[in-house]
Amino acid sequence: MPENTIIAPTAGAPDAETCLPDSEERRLASLESYGVLDTVEEADFDDIVELISIICEAPIAVINFIDRDRQWFKSVKGLGVRETPLDISICAHAILQPDLFIVEDTREDPRFSNNPLVTQDPYLRFYAGALLTDKDGLPLGTLCVLDHKPRDLNANQRFALQTLANQVMTQLEFRRSLREQQALIEKLDAVRKDLVITAATDSLTGLLNRGSFEQLLEREAIRIQQGAPPAVLMMIDLDFFKEINDQFGHHVGDRALTGFADVCRDVFRQSDILARWGGEEFVVFMPRTTLHSALLAAERLRTALRQNDLIAVNSAPGAITFSAGLCTFSGKQSPAEAMQRADELLYQAKTEGRDRIICEE
Ligand code: GH3
Ligand code: MG
Ligand code: MG
Repeated sequence: MPENTIIAPTAGAPDAETCLPDSEERRLASLESYGVLDTVEEADFDDIVELISIICEAPIAVINFIDRDRQWFKSVKGLGVRETPLDISICAHAILQPDLFIVEDTREDPRFSNNPLVTQDPYLRFYAGALLTDKDGLPLGTLCVLDHKPRDLNANQRFALQTLANQVMTQLEFRRSLREQQALIEKLDAVRKDLVITAATDSLTGLLNRGSFEQLLEREAIRIQQGAPPAVLMMIDLDFFKEINDQFGHHVGDRALTGFADVCRDVFRQSDILARWGGEEFVVFMPRTTLHSALLAAERLRTALRQNDLIAVNSAPGAITFSAGLCTFSGKQSPAEAMQRADELLYQAKTEGRDRIICEE
């Protein structure tokens, strides 16, 4: 007999397929998948146990599962324990039988006559168990009734035992489906959140993209019209960026754009909103900011760029400069008008020689 079978030492030699080791592993995996082991007592199962105890007129009734090295009771009436070792388990025999397993007198059965549960307290003399099987027919445990005296079950009681065993499995299947559904909903939710972030983000730099920045401006315009302090809008365009691509290649240009975004993240405040407007153009929305402090922030960016080598191909720090236009975002103009104003100031910075910041008067 294979070592990892679930058969108790005193058992006979059942030749059912269920005692093969690989089937035992599948059985244990199936049991695990229901997530029932070591859960608390629940009224739904206690009611079934109470009901079958009444119907079968048996002092003891149990919903038990056969785990790897123990039998564990989901619900139990008439025995003061929730777990017993497998080697003295009568149910471990029951799950090897295809149908109801009935032992009218355990003392008369050589498989159980020496079992301590029979010879000592609680002196179990009668056993009847109906299988709890999964959808593939793998036996996970039993719904069983026991008595302290030898006896049998009539046809109605046998029918009730099997029917209620099926109900136990229906409950477990239902709970597992609910859990799986919940897990699926959580997964879908995470995917949806990812999609929302992806849709709002520029894939190269990880900054907000133009669409979501425009939406943000619409929202902020309303807040400012309702009394929030004015903000500053800054439009940035990298200088002579085409030359970077032409000289070093597009991939170096891409790396410079990513590097520029990182420098911006370092320089600006957490509350400032950065976005890639398109190509080598960026925008910054600075809430609750005066033009003066926005100008200081823009100058900090210039300084930081001089100290950073965004090209990183045997070139020096400061090889990339930018031009910028800065204007207030006060709620007096529409977001589109404010963007146009910032763009005009940026254009002025370009025409005046680049590497400069033009601030609204
Ligand atoms: P100016 O100082 O007038 O702004 O000169 P410029 O070369 O920066 O301006 P221009 O509009 O002529 O060229 C912008 C360049 O930016 C051209 C384009 O190849 C490059 N560019 C735009 N988007 C990307 C990108 O995603 N990756 C890379 N590597 N280059 C980009
Ligand atoms: Mg440009
Ligand atoms: Mg440019």
